[in-house]
Amino acid sequence: MENELIKKIYTDIDRFIGTQSNCCKKGCAYCCHQQIEVMNVEKEVINEFITSELSDQTKEIIKENLNVWLDYFDSNTPDNKTLDGNDVFKDFGSKAAKDGLKCPFLIDNLCSIYEMRPMTCRVHIVESEPEFCNKNKLRDSTPNSFHTRLKIVNFLRSKSELRIEPLPYTVKHLFLPDRQLKPIEKNGNRIDHYK
Ligand code: SF4
Ligand code: SF4
Repeated sequence: MENELIKKIYTDIDRFIGTQSNCCKKGCAYCCHQQIEVMNVEKEVINEFITSELSDQTKEIIKENLNVWLDYFDSNTPDNKTLDGNDVFKDFGSKAAKDGLKCPFLIDNLCSIYEMRPMTCRVHIVESEPEFCNKNKLRDSTPNSFHTRLKIVNFLRSKSELRIEPLPYTVKHLFLPDRQLKPIEKNGNRIDHYK
């Protein structure tokens, strides 16, 4: 799928979100303390952005954060099997949200890849009470946001096979090329787990 299409979708989402009532503000980042999934079709634009736009200093911080994230992931997922969708997106996702696991790209409460953050982050807004996002990291976004996300997923699904993976899996090779990742079953990262 063309990267230009993904970038256009990102721009369209931003435009749409700009028309929606919400209380989300720069520096408010409770929602960045949970597992974030990325679609395979977003991988290239995110990696490109990291490679060409981030400073060495920022990359070094992300690398440290990524190691922390992967240590936590490795300690909180089964060791004796190839991971499936339930292990990664349900069990681990719940644990990560409960413990408030920080996204590796969050630096000083700001997103270091804001311009090219994944769709799941882009489309997520709530209307009031940011503190509720702290109490429940898996708080639902507004119905309009939810439906928009679903519409985009369905559109992209009509164009190519969609898979998801945790954001750190998408970028690991850029920061920690020698670190091993626990394998996830081929069918374990189907888009069905996206809801
Ligand atoms: S979703 Fe919640 S935590 Fe995230 S920016 Fe909006 S109010 Fe803040
Ligand atoms: S990618 Fe950025 S917006 Fe998304 S969770 Fe990470 S820090 Fe937050």
